[in-house]
Amino acid sequence: MWSIFSCVDILEARGERPLLLLLQQLGGWPVLEPNWDSERFDWLLLMAQLRLYNNDILISQWVGPDIKNSDHYIIQFDQTTLGLQSKDFFLEPEHEEFVQAYLRYIIDVACLMGAPSERAISHAEEIVAFETELAKITTSQESRRDTSDSFSKLTLRELQEKVPGIDWTRYLQLVLGRRIRPSEPVIVFDFKYFLGLSELLEGADTRTLADYFLWRFVSHRANNLDSRFEVAKQRFYRVITGQREVPPRWKGCVDHVNSHMGMATGAMFVRRHFDENSKNDTLHMTMDIMGSFENIMEKIEWIDDATKRLASEKADAMGLKIGYPSYILRSEELNLRYKEITIDPKDYFGNSLNVLQCLAYSDLHKLGMPVNKTTWSAAPAFVNAYYSRNKNQIMFPAGILQPPFYHRNFPRCLNYGGIGVVIGHEITHAFDDMGRLFDKDGNLNGWWSDEAVERFTEHAQCLIDQYSQYVDAEASMQLDGTNTQGENIADNGGIKQAFKAYQEWLEANQGEDETLPGIQATPYQLFFLNFAQVWCGTTTPQLAKTKLKTAVHSPGRFRPPQWSSSYSSSSMDIGEHAKHHFVSVEIRKRRIKKIAGEDSNPINVSRQSWKQNLANALIVLSSTTEDGEIEVRISVG
Ligand SMILES: [Zn+2]
Repeated sequence: MWSIFSCVDILEARGERPLLLLLQQLGGWPVLEPNWDSERFDWLLLMAQLRLYNNDILISQWVGPDIKNSDHYIIQFDQTTLGLQSKDFFLEPEHEEFVQAYLRYIIDVACLMGAPSERAISHAEEIVAFETELAKITTSQESRRDTSDSFSKLTLRELQEKVPGIDWTRYLQLVLGRRIRPSEPVIVFDFKYFLGLSELLEGADTRTLADYFLWRFVSHRANNLDSRFEVAKQRFYRVITGQREVPPRWKGCVDHVNSHMGMATGAMFVRRHFDENSKNDTLHMTMDIMGSFENIMEKIEWIDDATKRLASEKADAMGLKIGYPSYILRSEELNLRYKEITIDPKDYFGNSLNVLQCLAYSDLHKLGMPVNKTTWSAAPAFVNAYYSRNKNQIMFPAGILQPPFYHRNFPRCLNYGGIGVVIGHEITHAFDDMGRLFDKDGNLNGWWSDEAVERFTEHAQCLIDQYSQYVDAEASMQLDGTNTQGENIADNGGIKQAFKAYQEWLEANQGEDETLPGIQATPYQLFFLNFAQVWCGTTTPQLAKTKLKTAVHSPGRFRPPQWSSSYSSSSMDIGEHAKHHFVSVEIRKRRIKKIAGEDSNPINVSRQSWKQNLANALIVLSSTTEDGEIEVRISVG
């Protein structure tokens, strides 16, 4: 896969031909076909065909754990993404520059595919006009935060009655390749969107609809073509993100292979770079931080005892994955995972389609199977961390267990300020505005008392108000306190828990930790320095603007200081503590406990079992990526 992507000569020589051929098989892209026949166009069939290439256009459909019964897979429908990241970009006049760049991009790609420029211009304008109408019926991210408000579970028959404009049964039969009963249960997010879509489709021009479907597909597939398409994409990205240069080709190769065959690249990464000791070390830290979480929660006066007890049960039941699934280091088992994928060293375009078809197939064929909550769903070679609401599980892939987050020989303060805060952040997600709606088994279930919910909402509103006051100077825009509230809650909780756990670690170690040579900073100061360092970075004004509109995280520079401004008295305590304990600290080598035992028996680790398994624990992980799973990422990469 890598070698063919890197093999520029073949890509250049083939140009747009592989995609042209595919478009013809899909009925033809009207912008390229003056004699395109609208009579033969079947939009539902095309939508299903594109789903089988793992493309969700107009409708997002997947098979995922039932939100109210997370042990069972169920068919789910939702609105899908637009060609620009936010609906506001289509609708608000101040983003006209983005819309113009998008229009230009469609024209450029259509011309590269062989369309005459006049035709490309008129069709592109129709595509954007249609997508603007689509943006109008799309629900904004901030309005979708309360999952319990936005989803409905019903039978296929009921869905057909409520939204008759779409033949749901036929669509599902096309993608599943078999008959489906009217009593099949389905979950629908954003009913309003589907009602609006039905109406929009009724009045839509057939040719424009075909143009739109295939434009969205072409925009994805253009990534698998020659450098002319890359240049066109870069021109578009330059306006959206401010990025001035095309990133080196090797980076694109790594991203592509890691995104699509993450367990295979993960095995390579782990063999070369992963320190096995870090699993056990991270396990110890997670236990400490979970203890801090419980201590902090105990002292919160506005949560009643019954709710606290259930919260504690949820924390106890939380699954933990660290590093990578053990099977990836066993070649035969790893090969089995990719057995359906055929790689032809001379056909990068075909390989990409094959991978997408396999992804779609494995998603659809989960229907009817029980959910295995012990599966490992994150590729190991990513610098990221996750909380899964369906599984009530936290995950720390091997990629994040390296500097600046973690190193076995770092002073402890740096590890607690780095990966420690990430651990606390992910734990807190189980109790943020969205996580709190799910119980210990990963089911949507109102387990908080009414009074606790009311007080939670008041406290969450404080954070919303606080963050909404901040202005990002680079973008000259205010932060969206509502959209970022879950992450802000997790940031605030994470650092409190990690700092408390570090204080307790210090106490247990007679107040001694290493410092860094050449830096006059106490371990407490180093804790905060490393925490802050994680969020250091630069961005262009365009990207800052785009992210403020779309990201659920506050910009990096707003992640650390808000905590210290909210807790200035604690910061003073920290200073006093630091002086008291660490005027002079001897540098010493900490030995990392050796992990005993082999990970031959994969286990799902819950906190109850962490304690029992700690003596010889390796966190052992098993397959696979799960589409449709609700995950929360810290997004540090
Ligand atoms: Zn997060």
